[in-house]
Amino acid sequence: MVIRMRHTRSHTANRRSHHALTAPNLAVCKNCGSQHRPHHMCLNCGFYKGRVVIDLLAKKKSREARLQAKRELIQGAAEETPVTTK
Ligand SMILES: [Zn+2]
Repeated sequence: MVIRMRHTRSHTANRRSHHALTAPNLAVCKNCGSQHRPHHMCLNCGFYKGRVVIDLLAKKKSREARLQAKRELIQGAAEETPVTTK
């Protein structure tokens, strides 16, 4: 039903009575004990059904290395150009 005209407060409240959000059901990871979505891989350790699905530790490591390389690149560029201070 399309809302075309001004409604009474009760009409608005009636419509909004269905707008409440519900908290998601979460399962506890058997490997690390953190909460994750049921039937989904644990986003903390990468385990599902007792085995590693995605090696999140290696991913984190490679990401850190990538970020570190980027940081060094930025720092190197900053040292080359003279910094102007106000
Ligand atoms: Zn876990």
